[in-house]
Amino acid sequence: MSKLQSHYDVVVIGAGPAGYVSAIRCAQLGLKTACVDNWSNNKRQSSLGGTYLNAGCVPAIALLESAKIYHLLNHELSRHGIHAENISVDISQMMRRKDKIIETLSNKIVDIFNHHKITRIHAQAKLLNACEVEITPVDHSSSSIIKAKNIILATGSSPICLPCAPIDNELIIDSTTALSLDSAPKKLGIIGAGVIGLELACIWKKLGSEIVMLEAQENFLTLPDQQISREAYRIYTQQGLEMRLGARVISTKKGHKKVTVEYQDSEGLHCLRVDKLLVASGRKPNTENLIAAEANLMLDENGFVHVDENCRTTLPSVYAIGDLTSLGPMLAHKGIEEGVFVAEQIAGVHNPINYDLLPCVIYTEPEVAWVGQTEQALRAIGERIKIGTFPLSAAARSHAMGISEGMVKIITHAETDAILGVHIIGAHASELIAEAALAMEFSASGEDLARTIHAHPTISEALHEAALSLEKRTLHLPVGTLAS
Ligand code: NAD
Repeated sequence: MSKLQSHYDVVVIGAGPAGYVSAIRCAQLGLKTACVDNWSNNKRQSSLGGTYLNAGCVPAIALLESAKIYHLLNHELSRHGIHAENISVDISQMMRRKDKIIETLSNKIVDIFNHHKITRIHAQAKLLNACEVEITPVDHSSSSIIKAKNIILATGSSPICLPCAPIDNELIIDSTTALSLDSAPKKLGIIGAGVIGLELACIWKKLGSEIVMLEAQENFLTLPDQQISREAYRIYTQQGLEMRLGARVISTKKGHKKVTVEYQDSEGLHCLRVDKLLVASGRKPNTENLIAAEANLMLDENGFVHVDENCRTTLPSVYAIGDLTSLGPMLAHKGIEEGVFVAEQIAGVHNPINYDLLPCVIYTEPEVAWVGQTEQALRAIGERIKIGTFPLSAAARSHAMGISEGMVKIITHAETDAILGVHIIGAHASELIAEAALAMEFSASGEDLARTIHAHPTISEALHEAALSLEKRTLHLPVGTLAS
């Protein structure tokens, strides 16, 4: 914790991707900045980076990389003519590797803060009014009040608790605990087949768990393009994830070492016994204990901090960014962009965010990524569109890499050829989507993408070929046999 001063140009509350990036940009712009964050690691030390770094995307991706290697060694080696014996997994070591990655990245944020002379405060912060924040150190030593010309709220979100499945973090666990287990549960039940449920299912399936997913909605993954969702469903179930759709969990009963889950679907009531039950039923904004009642800051009907299109709250000079607002989806990179946007606004520069071009990624294997609009949304508004698709299995590089699954789908406007949406399932989808986002940000047409030279052989050629297929001129697939 840095030495506390009484006045700042900006106080940022929360050091997740939205908050820490905002603090850095404020300091770069010459503003005297403090960042208050209450996250403590298991050594009771401050760990900057918020959920994303400490208990979200970063640990999930670190564990997925380890799980992929284990799976590869067990299932893929012989095809390459490689033989390995006595393969075993030490999940505690896997967790230590993951924890080391978190520590390294969190320390890098500290270094950047120090470089920019950002005051770092390990404490619980409460907004008292438009210019004052109460600081209560995590060791509960005496509180103090700091003043700021501008305040940025960036406290993120936390898992929604289901009354029917109270978390004890032994048998019924949340996503944080699911990223720290010291062994693979024999049978893991998951409530919610959303992004978090799927990412964790993918990790633990590869590490040997039997997975049963209970999803209240009848339709699987409603956010991506439905053609991609159908393909994802096919691949995940083929990998052994058992999906029970239209299955709403009603109650849970804990036994000595197992949980019995009662759920209802169109056929009636059912019971499922699992060794652990993960609740991944959505997240809610962290506003609890953040705002003094006298502050009169308005929340919306869903508990998010009410903001205008410039992330301004109902109090002058108080902004809210990231998962705390309902502007756009709960994504780390949305928060990052808002952090920069608000910092620049405070410094007098206005560079608005294009929320229509936020790439979305589901970090499973294969990955799912998309940017722009879905075919279903465009048809619903009567837009005239063209669709180009290309299966990854038809790309030379895919064969060399042993990838047979996945596809790219490009949607353009029927008359102008403007790219309206790009949807990908497959290896490196999270990287490929950047090209699509860039093309759309620069108002490229499908033909622009088709005329852009892509290195051969690469996975990115699938994007090129999908663009060619808009005018039925794919090169590496006979026209008429495209994935649909
Ligand atoms: P989600 O809303 O995506 O999925 C939760 C699912 O749980 C829903 O489909 C819902 O129908 C289901 N559900 C709720 N109650 C249920 C019940 N009683 N029985 C059965 N099913 C039930 O929420 P999430 O997966 O927890 O993710 C939360 C947020 O965090 C999302 O906005 C997500 O985009 C974001 N996030 C993004 C990433 C990423 O970008 N890769 C990673 C993690 C989280």
